[in-house]
Amino acid sequence: MENHRVYFRNGQEVLALGQGTYRMGNSSADKSEEIKALRTGIELGMQVIDTAENYDNEELVGEAIRGLRDRVFLVSKVQPSHAVRQGTIITSCERSLRKLHTDFLDLYLLHWEGRSSFEETVSAMLKLQQDGKIKMWGVSNMDVHKMERFYVIPGGNTCAANQVAYNIETRGTEFDLLPWCTQRKVVFMAYSPIGEGDLIRNRTLMEIGKRHNATAAQIALAWSLRLPNILSIPKAGSVRHVEENFKSLSILLTNEDIRDLNS
Ligand code: NAP
Repeated sequence: MENHRVYFRNGQEVLALGQGTYRMGNSSADKSEEIKALRTGIELGMQVIDTAENYDNEELVGEAIRGLRDRVFLVSKVQPSHAVRQGTIITSCERSLRKLHTDFLDLYLLHWEGRSSFEETVSAMLKLQQDGKIKMWGVSNMDVHKMERFYVIPGGNTCAANQVAYNIETRGTEFDLLPWCTQRKVVFMAYSPIGEGDLIRNRTLMEIGKRHNATAAQIALAWSLRLPNILSIPKAGSVRHVEENFKSLSILLTNEDIRDLNS
């Protein structure tokens, strides 16, 4: 499992466990500990770092990846209110690049539908790609119906990822969206894999954790990583949590564990 990889359509492969950053840099938490946490994750090989223009923390992420950019697969997102016209998407991307102190993003996502235009989004993403400002583009919070609307737009079928909520308590997407994405080489990025922290108190996860000498958080993550094409991006604001989460890659859930989790 430590070698559990996810493959993007351009051939790039990454460790299936990355790092989220929502609420980093704007909570009461210690920013230097958050930076240390992200750097620890990178050192461990968790290449993917996920931010967004509306997290208001791209500067912090830029600081965390300083000197390590070549070991990071950097993801940011445009908010829908800026995705109404091609020009505003490009301006948003350039602003993110400046804040992140980098000249390209590995992946740029439309954060959610809102009042965005899918046509303008695709044309801006292709232009950003052509200009070398992003390597790949994708979407977030899109169901199968919305993905199909993207796919009929010229160039829309080059979408590389869809980032959606996915954890043991929020798994409806595995019946339609996950196979849809997997068949089309669209990486399925699982956000809130620890249920925004709530799953650490889940009794079943704790019980299964005892069988593996693991915590509930680790079992939640091992579960999110059990299928191919899933890139799980927990947010952890401390070195201790990052190290703990990384160890979830070594947990192999048994059929009995999966059965207990399903029930
Ligand atoms: P999450 O990763 O499921 O949970 C984060 C919470 O879990 C934090 O409170 C964190 O606390 C805690 N935690 C992490 N590791 C832990 C451990 N080993 N033991 C105990 N607690 C632990 O929720 P999320 O932040 O909502 O989702 C992850 C990422 O997905 C986000 O940060 C963001 O990058 C992305 N996301 C995207 C969207 C979207 O619309 N595209 C929406 C939501 C999230 P500490 O900070 O104290 O470690």
